[in-house]
Amino acid sequence: MRVGIGYDVHRLVEGRELILGGVEVPYHLGLLGHSDADVLLHAIKDALLGAVGAGDIGKHFPDSDPSYKGISSLVLLERVRDIIADKGYALNNLDAVIVAQKPKLAPYIPGMVSNIARVMGVEEGQVNVKATTTEGLGFTGTGEGIAAYAVVSVLPR
Ligand code: MG
Repeated sequence: MRVGIGYDVHRLVEGRELILGGVEVPYHLGLLGHSDADVLLHAIKDALLGAVGAGDIGKHFPDSDPSYKGISSLVLLERVRDIIADKGYALNNLDAVIVAQKPKLAPYIPGMVSNIARVMGVEEGQVNVKATTTEGLGFTGTGEGIAAYAVVSVLPR
């Protein structure tokens, strides 16, 4: 078994959709980024790539490449699934934390879990997503941005 960690942050701005785990969450702000800025899926993809020693998403999907502009992070998650499969591994389990003061994310977490499990080809019980606030502290607490952490384990296929 191998283990990987991922961490990502995106800034919250006006005029963008808020996409987390491939779910459109109703909110007056969204995350700024070259892709859909899905901070949760970015952290998960970095964890998966790290688990198989394949670098990070910046290496595989560079911001400088216009073909990734606005692309769904679920599409890129499929590509990461294929990269780890090529290395001989498959997802065993995944645990992730979204750090956001607002909005309330609990109603949307089952949709995120369902999206991630479907793309990765695993049972929903192998995927866990949580959300927390930081009690108003720091850049997540003031609502300037949202952060996400992910840890994964992978097993040989
Ligand atoms: Mg990112």
